[in-house]
Amino acid sequence: MSPIRSSLLDTVPWLQHGFGTRHNGAWTPPDQTALLHQVHGATIVRVTGPGHHGDGDALIAATPGLWLEIRTADCVPVLIADTRQKLVAAVHAGWRGTAARITEATVREMVGSYGSRPEELVAAVGPCITVCCFEVGEDVASHFPAHTRRTTERPHVDLAAANVDQLTQGGIPLAHVENLGRCTVCEPDVFHSFRRDRAIGRMISAIAIEPA
Ligand SMILES: [Zn+2]
Repeated sequence: MSPIRSSLLDTVPWLQHGFGTRHNGAWTPPDQTALLHQVHGATIVRVTGPGHHGDGDALIAATPGLWLEIRTADCVPVLIADTRQKLVAAVHAGWRGTAARITEATVREMVGSYGSRPEELVAAVGPCITVCCFEVGEDVASHFPAHTRRTTERPHVDLAAANVDQLTQGGIPLAHVENLGRCTVCEPDVFHSFRRDRAIGRMISAIAIEPA
């Protein structure tokens, strides 16, 4: 099984990407991969080369051949590309990062620091714990009034939809956003899930500009 691809991101000819499954392990070349110590915050790190880049939960780069890697197992992986000027970003958005609006902040950083035009960005929201399985307490639900469903006894939060909304609130047209809609909890043969397994397996999602 290969990493899962977004058909929308696949329309960008120079773009390489994938959302890893539990069968893929570390699938990007280690000496060409940039990664972070993910801390469930809202820190965005701009990088130009491979290696560990300290604490943070989003990476942005314009370096051809450099893979930006995010590790998740229920949290939301978001991959973003600027179709005009070859710029890519990868975001790790758990509920804390989503509440801190890290995905919208990443779009705004691409616009503010790199001159991206939001209408020229495309993005994909990858496999995560979706609303079917993300039952939460009122403390967590209180952060997501617009994305909480109360059709059952306990609230459920739609983190994927919250991140889609942050992408569009950053200015990206909704038609330029793909939500893969795959639930890490519901597909145990495909995905790790921390909530389901209480284990430390992680899946790697990554994005890169093709080598020059
Ligand atoms: Zn589910």
